[in-house]
Amino acid sequence: MNNGLPVITLAGNPNSGKTSIFNSLTGAKQHVANYPGITVEIKEGKAVSGELTAEIIDLPGTYSLTPYSPDEVAARDYLLEQHPDVVIHVVDASNLERNLYLTTQLMELGVPVIIALNMIDIAEDRGIRIDSEGLSKILGIPVLRTVGNRGTGTEELLKKALSIACEKTSWTPIELSYGQASDNALRILEKRIIETGLLMDMVPPGWLALRLLEQDSHTLNRVKRLSSPEGNDILELSADLADRVFREMNDETEGVIADHRYGFVAGVVKRVKSYSTVNRVYISDRIDRFLTNPFLGPVVMVAVLFGLFQFTFFVSSTPIALMEGFFSWLHTFAWSALPEGLLRSLVVSGAIDGVGGVVGFVPLIMFMFFFISILEDTGYMARIAFLMDRIFRKFGLHGNSIVPFIVSGGITGGCAVPGIMAARTLRDPRERIATILSVPFMNCGAKLPVYALLIAAFFSAKEGLILFLLTLISWTFALLSARMLRSTILKGESTSFVLELPPYRLPSLTSLLIHMWERTWLYLRKAGTVILFASVVMWALMTFPILPADHASSLTDNELAQARLSYSIAGRAGRAFESITKPLMGFDWKTDVALIGGFAAKEIVVSTLGTVYSMGEIDSEDSSSLSERLADEEGWNPVVAFALIMFTMLYIPCIATVAVIKRETRSWKWAGFAIVYTTGAAMIVATVAYQIGMLFY
Ligand code: GDP
Ligand code: MG
Repeated sequence: MNNGLPVITLAGNPNSGKTSIFNSLTGAKQHVANYPGITVEIKEGKAVSGELTAEIIDLPGTYSLTPYSPDEVAARDYLLEQHPDVVIHVVDASNLERNLYLTTQLMELGVPVIIALNMIDIAEDRGIRIDSEGLSKILGIPVLRTVGNRGTGTEELLKKALSIACEKTSWTPIELSYGQASDNALRILEKRIIETGLLMDMVPPGWLALRLLEQDSHTLNRVKRLSSPEGNDILELSADLADRVFREMNDETEGVIADHRYGFVAGVVKRVKSYSTVNRVYISDRIDRFLTNPFLGPVVMVAVLFGLFQFTFFVSSTPIALMEGFFSWLHTFAWSALPEGLLRSLVVSGAIDGVGGVVGFVPLIMFMFFFISILEDTGYMARIAFLMDRIFRKFGLHGNSIVPFIVSGGITGGCAVPGIMAARTLRDPRERIATILSVPFMNCGAKLPVYALLIAAFFSAKEGLILFLLTLISWTFALLSARMLRSTILKGESTSFVLELPPYRLPSLTSLLIHMWERTWLYLRKAGTVILFASVVMWALMTFPILPADHASSLTDNELAQARLSYSIAGRAGRAFESITKPLMGFDWKTDVALIGGFAAKEIVVSTLGTVYSMGEIDSEDSSSLSERLADEEGWNPVVAFALIMFTMLYIPCIATVAVIKRETRSWKWAGFAIVYTTGAAMIVATVAYQIGMLFY
């Protein structure tokens, strides 16, 4: 069959890449061969290297030469009967342990072997490092690295295989130790085989002894078929010896021998394989025992989030004060530099105050995002997602929804714009949209000044407690909203996407800064564009039409400011809304004007309230004087204030958020729905709060 050409046979586990290497070696010069008695397909081809041509055989995949499947029988019989000159043992480097088992058996057989350490690319991707030189030394076999599907290293492989094949070396089995009991039995058997010369033209006596001791049925049958007296004698002896080993080891010889092969493989692997990430994976595992523990995990999580929250406020307080100082200086400067009139009013009240109120929060937002990036880059955010997954699933969301929730203000002080963008990690469209529609309920940084103002005015004794309550309430509404959406318009199965738990890593500062900056920039851009524009529009709506001069006579400054506002477009709209909002929620027209302004950005609620209550120069952070004023104002009481807080928390997301919802869902439908949905929810909740509150007030 081999027409004098050297024969190179490819052997290895299924899917180790034999056929890929075969194709790369032979190109088009191949065909399917038929061997007598073998039904399994064996491919044959020719390969040329320099002057030399070789016959290449692609054997079916086999895990072991103690065959169980027809493929394995075919592969083994081929090796025993055709005596190839060299076997290229294709080893999947990403699965070294299992593949090397066959190596031990090839070495037992003694056929000249060369190892193609294939799939080396996959192994490297998984952080597996294999010392191929070391492996070659330990086994006494040449080892070459290949990437079969790309043909990398196969030329070398062919050269090496050919040089071995041409030596026509005789088969030299190695002797492994299988434990004392088996070794003794093998010695006895082998001696008898050599004495009788049984099947020695075909296989090495040591190999036959091993097979017989394993009581391998194919080998037993083959000897039986000889029906020679020596053969039968040896069969009897092998059964006897196997029995003896069994009694001694309390295990089948096949198992005992396999165990020792595995032991040998394990020892080899230990010396040649290392993980570039082994420590990280191992340490991560250890850490996760605590951090994802069902009892300890949540405790640590709450502590981490709380600490982060505190620390963010602590480190950002000075920069915020500086920013505020700057904007109040700018305010005063512009006020004195510009002549009295519409322009000054536009620049100071419209542009500077509006944008300043937002930009003042930038340090807080920046630090917040910096710490959130730390959580993400270290891998801890994935653990939080893991811990929250069970809870989130109850609300029809996915553990990964936690990131949008936190970024949007879950720990207070976020922003829904990057929060909604963070929902990109959710793969199920329904879970994603439910998350996107629910996160605007979280307490973003812009709502805080509104809360601060109203809390200072009406609940000053319990500031911290109320803020904490508001955080809980916003979570409750956001989650309930998700549940509701997921059982109505976004109905569907929860996905079972597996949460990935990447190994913990030390984050790189560059990546942290980039993440922080990306998100801060989104926020800043909102301040520079949408909010600037909206502040100017609000200013115009509250300024025009200008109250005719004859109306203005005999009024105090205060009354004049109010009259002007009331006469403006915003004032008229507010008064139109008052007929609905006053009986339902207790909001007067001035509050309505402020809430209309809040569509531009929630901070504007405060600055507008300032203007409306004719305290012109109030900016959104220093609102103590306004809060005193509100506390004394007729028609205001804690119930109204609470209803207003609820309304602010829930109603219409700011323009920037609506824009980002549109962009992320690629549909105006969802953006429009968000507006109606949130405002509807706000009206219902604020009405219920006001009506019930008034019963007890
Ligand atoms: P066989 O069952 O041993 O004949 O394996 P195949 O040659 O059919 O290969 C199984 C799969 O692994 C195929 O999809 C090949 O494209 C792929 N493959 C083979 N060698 C490599 C390799 O070195 N690297 C990678 N990444 N894939 C490989
Ligand atoms: Mg194949």
